[in-house]
Amino acid sequence: MRARLLGSSVADTASRQYVTSFVINDSVAIDAGCLGFWGTPQQQEAVRHVFLTHAHADHTASLPIFIENAWTPAEDCPTVYGSTETLEAVQKHIFNNNVWPDFIAISKTMPPFLRVCPLQHEMPAQADGLTITPVQVNHLIPTYGFVVSDGESAVIFGGDSGPTDRLWEIARQTQGLRAVFLEACFPNSMTGLAEVSLHLTPQMFGREAAKLPAGIRVIAVHIKVRYREQVIQELHDLQLSNLEIGECEKEYCF
Ligand SMILES: [Zn+2]
Ligand SMILES: [Zn+2]
Repeated sequence: MRARLLGSSVADTASRQYVTSFVINDSVAIDAGCLGFWGTPQQQEAVRHVFLTHAHADHTASLPIFIENAWTPAEDCPTVYGSTETLEAVQKHIFNNNVWPDFIAISKTMPPFLRVCPLQHEMPAQADGLTITPVQVNHLIPTYGFVVSDGESAVIFGGDSGPTDRLWEIARQTQGLRAVFLEACFPNSMTGLAEVSLHLTPQMFGREAAKLPAGIRVIAVHIKVRYREQVIQELHDLQLSNLEIGECEKEYCF
């Protein structure tokens, strides 16, 4: 399995992650924070499946642009997956004929722009040879972490979440688990903000990492750009042997 955390700044792309999108094996995306601003229209068209962790703007901001870029006048179109709440929020607040045309409604009368597919908690979905299982995590709005498996290797995309347990319980049962992309949003000095916004600091990150099976890669992502150096220092202070700092546009192989 190949996975890439997309760059979301025009300069110093590798280390400035403003928003979140991952592309797996060229055809499956996790989140659409910057998916619509990435690559060529042909690369975007190759992404047939978009799994949304939740509706927050840093995970959905470029979804309307992606849908426009990926459109061709054919019966085939991308499918957008998410919880019922996430899909309702996307339709109500983005595809609402104010912010962007209601492409979900338009898709019923002409070559479709997108299909939507609601996910059920912990019910696996299939997409281009991957099995993707949504697991509820602990954030301000309904949010999924995703367990993604190609049959040999599995990787977890933790979504935005404060301290959580069910996802790590499933992690411990997952065959071939190689890595977890885990958020490390705020520095330790902003623990109060992390607690009310249900994100992690490095200290909390360390406690979550301790719940994971031994020997898997733990890749820190979603680091607030303004506090990046401080957060990275505090992550290194944890002295975790399996810690990696996530880099945008690097191709991870699992
Ligand atoms: Zn969020
Ligand atoms: Zn976020």
